[in-house]
Amino acid sequence: MIACSFERLDDKIKTFSKFGDTGKGGITRFSLSPEALMARAEYKKRMEAIGATVVTDDMGNMYATIPGSENLPAIVAGSHLDSVRQGGNFDGVLGVLTAMEVAETIVKEKIPHRHPLTVMVWTNEEGARFEPAMMSSGVICNKFDKAAMLASVAKDKPGYTFGQALEESGYIGSEKNRLTPDKYVALMELHIEQGPVLEAEGIQIGVVEGVCGMVNYEFTFVGQAGHAGTTPMKYRKDALYAAVKTIQYLHDELNELDSKLVYTTGKISAHPNIHTIIPDEVKFTLDARHQDPEVIKQVVEIIHKIPAEVEKCKVSFTEAWSRKTVNFTPEIVNYVEKSANDFGYSSMRLYSGPGHDAQFAIDVLPAAMIFVPSVGGHSHCELEFTPTEDCLNGANVLLKTVLYIDQQ
Ligand SMILES: [Zn+2]
Repeated sequence: MIACSFERLDDKIKTFSKFGDTGKGGITRFSLSPEALMARAEYKKRMEAIGATVVTDDMGNMYATIPGSENLPAIVAGSHLDSVRQGGNFDGVLGVLTAMEVAETIVKEKIPHRHPLTVMVWTNEEGARFEPAMMSSGVICNKFDKAAMLASVAKDKPGYTFGQALEESGYIGSEKNRLTPDKYVALMELHIEQGPVLEAEGIQIGVVEGVCGMVNYEFTFVGQAGHAGTTPMKYRKDALYAAVKTIQYLHDELNELDSKLVYTTGKISAHPNIHTIIPDEVKFTLDARHQDPEVIKQVVEIIHKIPAEVEKCKVSFTEAWSRKTVNFTPEIVNYVEKSANDFGYSSMRLYSGPGHDAQFAIDVLPAAMIFVPSVGGHSHCELEFTPTEDCLNGANVLLKTVLYIDQQ
């Protein structure tokens, strides 16, 4: 069976890891930074070398297309080249590199294909310098307002906007080049899992059925400040104690729900945060994710059972934001599974916890994702690692899936 090249893919991974190299095994490559522009130039150079035509849209998303044998819309595969601060060499970039490798394999091996194949690079997926995450897919898939996104200000440079950075990058193209169903037939995104499941289960390929829905709640506890040495315990209204009891309640209750539910209190603040003063105001967040909206509903019910007063402190909570579960196109998900089987790779179906550009693209085109294992489940850090063998398995599944889509 025709497969992608280990040597070529390994070379791509090593070459791209130089753009923004931190010297400690990872990269810092914010979208549109000089390092990111070097990565874009390398992608463009390599794609043109195999005969691709490269265009950009008005958000700087890049599309490198090799022709097919028929006049049909293109199959698109890709991801993002930007990273978080001191991120890894696999999040995002691997989806671009494997798509490049698939295109190169098709060209070098002269694999017949009817549809053109486009290798895509999304602008500013991480939102590390200019918020929010998934900015450009959000704009071209009609989730975010373009003017508001262009006005997004750099976290490290007051007054400097994403619009200015985009202008200076030289990558503003035509709105006509956007990902639309008249030009594209389906979208694939390969990504590292960013979690520990595939490795722990000894599975080579994650067949991604969708992206988990989530809710994020903010809780506020209001008590009474007082002197730590003079206020007897029975007179206290300790907002931190009330918050802790509530966090414990949430864990006890949420533990009873489906075992795939994940929930996190990742942010907490206490006021006045002084060791001799009883806290009078405490806030914390709860992020909960599950693929089944019914389970998310149960989470919300548990939250709503929290009494208005805990340990004599006033309790309030609001939904800060939420995301509905996104389901990828079943036919394409089946192709991914079938492709893994064709190569004899072990696979499992799963839902993504993190968000990805493909979850916005599904509103425009049929789409699906492929996951490869993350060693130790590490991601968004310099420890992030996936051996080239595992990356190659993913590239092969991507190749075969593209060819299945091509035949349909
Ligand atoms: Zn990513």
